[in-house]
Amino acid sequence: MGPHSSAATAMPEHIQARVEACYQQAEAFFKRSFQRAEVSFKLRGQKAGVAHLTENKLRFNPQLYRENREDFLRQTVPHEVAHLIAHQLFGPRIQPHGEEWQLIMRGVYELPPNRCHSYEVQRRQVSRFIYRCGCPEAEFPFSSQRHTLVGKGRRYYCRRCKVTLRFSGEQRLE
Ligand SMILES: [Zn+2]
Ligand SMILES: [Zn+2]
Repeated sequence: MGPHSSAATAMPEHIQARVEACYQQAEAFFKRSFQRAEVSFKLRGQKAGVAHLTENKLRFNPQLYRENREDFLRQTVPHEVAHLIAHQLFGPRIQPHGEEWQLIMRGVYELPPNRCHSYEVQRRQVSRFIYRCGCPEAEFPFSSQRHTLVGKGRRYYCRRCKVTLRFSGEQRLE
């Protein structure tokens, strides 16, 4: 067996072992069990890892792992596992890198809770409806619920110019 093939087969095992160790640390800390995630290595691009909260899945980027193994095992794996632990403990309404996740990073893994942009969580995006008034540059991103209320006759006003807010036709995902 050449060095390339052994490196390729060793890769998922190291990550798998680190994932399992992270779960065991969390279980010892919180004195409860956590459902294990399904782990895959089919992530490409900028992100080192992604935690799929509702599906309880972790995806890691084999290319980025090869480029920076030590940091990947020390930081990336616990970062992503902590998202799933936070989700199991606190439910879906928490901020991805909020205090619950930070508590796990600091308390359980004794790591700085760095939110690197390359470690982003895949969140469900929400649609915003952009409303405007008479003020230059002012915009009011409405939720779809509020946009529906406007459709039913509800009016909203700008506090500054007192003009009724009107839907600009623009929508965006946040
Ligand atoms: Zn994250
Ligand atoms: Zn205004």
